[in-house]
Amino acid sequence: MELFFLGTSAALVSKNRHNTSLLVKKEADLLLIDCNGACLQMLMKQGIDYENLSHIFFTHEHIDHMCAITNLVHQIWMKTCYAKSAKQEKRTKPLNIYGNSAVIKLVEKLLNLVDLPQHPDIFPIHFHDLGLEPTKAKIGSFDVEIFPVEHGHCNCSGVKIHNPKGKALVYSADTEICDAVTSRTDKQDVLVHECSELEDAHLSGHTTLSEIEANIERLNANELYIVHVPDVTEDAHARVKALAQTSGKKITIPDDGDSVLLR
Ligand SMILES: [Zn+2]
Repeated sequence: MELFFLGTSAALVSKNRHNTSLLVKKEADLLLIDCNGACLQMLMKQGIDYENLSHIFFTHEHIDHMCAITNLVHQIWMKTCYAKSAKQEKRTKPLNIYGNSAVIKLVEKLLNLVDLPQHPDIFPIHFHDLGLEPTKAKIGSFDVEIFPVEHGHCNCSGVKIHNPKGKALVYSADTEICDAVTSRTDKQDVLVHECSELEDAHLSGHTTLSEIEANIERLNANELYIVHVPDVTEDAHARVKALAQTSGKKITIPDDGDSVLLR
């Protein structure tokens, strides 16, 4: 299984970072987690066949995580249906969209608002409401656990993706450090955790770098990737490097376009 960082920024993008979005690849199966405005270019740069993308999971309904879905679906439709001649085969493979009850309603409404499901010859779009309670689901060939995290008043879902051939992936989504994430994370797992504030100011419903430093043992995983970050300063990189040294863990703030093999 391989993890690609298609974006690593918090809600405000910076020159080199797009909003946080991840892609998990297991052989030919792809799972996109959230959808930033640069997903398509990032997938193309990685040589990933976005035209056959069949599974998208949304963590929550905040705009920086989901609103670019309209452009993504439109692009796939243009490439695989609209631009094909009468003799060419058009895509019929469904696009499956998953998320908790709150985000799935909004994504469906958004796509209907711009008439995408009614576009001529478009492939089926299936919406999968996974509820608001912790649940296990099969997304394509991926075995996933979905669980509510602590993101203020917003229904936000963290996700764990099991990997029979290697390390599991846990993604916190937007949240304060919480038991829902830490209790599902084992030492050998790869944890991707948000960090929306690198300075000390507390952000309700989010995590700061000071909180990661103070809770590094509680976060369990020996391999930690910090995403959903503002512009990263040299000081922040130095603090993360020092934390890696003192904790003995692998801790990184990845750049957009980085990837990790989970084995
Ligand atoms: Zn959010």
